[in-house]
Amino acid sequence: MSGKDVRELQIRVAGWTARDEVITIDRQFGPATYRALRRFQSAYGLTADGVAGSRTFAALDALTSSNGSTKNFTWREFYSPDVRDFTGSDVASRAQVKANVRHLMYKLEALRRKLGNQPVRINSAFRSTAINRSVGGVGDSQHLYGRAADISVTNRSVSTVIEKARTCGFPGIIRYSGHTHVDTGFWFRQLSAQEASRQQGQSAVAHC
Ligand SMILES: [Zn+2]
Repeated sequence: MSGKDVRELQIRVAGWTARDEVITIDRQFGPATYRALRRFQSAYGLTADGVAGSRTFAALDALTSSNGSTKNFTWREFYSPDVRDFTGSDVASRAQVKANVRHLMYKLEALRRKLGNQPVRINSAFRSTAINRSVGGVGDSQHLYGRAADISVTNRSVSTVIEKARTCGFPGIIRYSGHTHVDTGFWFRQLSAQEASRQQGQSAVAHC
């Protein structure tokens, strides 16, 4: 597999981590990617051999929509309500936001699967700068980058959602009374586990 192929594989299995782990998208098929791939295979009824063969790719492709979103989520669900698009952020371009949302979607697909295929409702995801200001979001909110979603899941307790989300590669998880905030943090930084957990602490104060 080329580095580009490994990168794409990493994006798609990034929601199948160990607890409080974040897979670095670094184009290297390392131990974390191998273990994530095995968990994915196991969850989808495939032989958990950590080899990305044709059946595994078929399962990964089945999670992808023709327009580039994932199977159970639409781009529209992640739009900012004022612009109905991924424009309007002062800190990220439309293309950057869209790429970040795609990463987020694959992790949410993993969460959905781990919750027994319960629909994950997206209450708020990408926010334009104007919307972020109007809802009182912090200036560097992950929502401005398309890296965060406020979710709710019917028929599952918030505690269950959070517990499962901790195994889906989200460095930031915040509990609210009506919803749960999950974010993919500073995706383009190379995160060590320590940095990731520190970031989670910061995130708990700063974001949403
Ligand atoms: Zn939030």
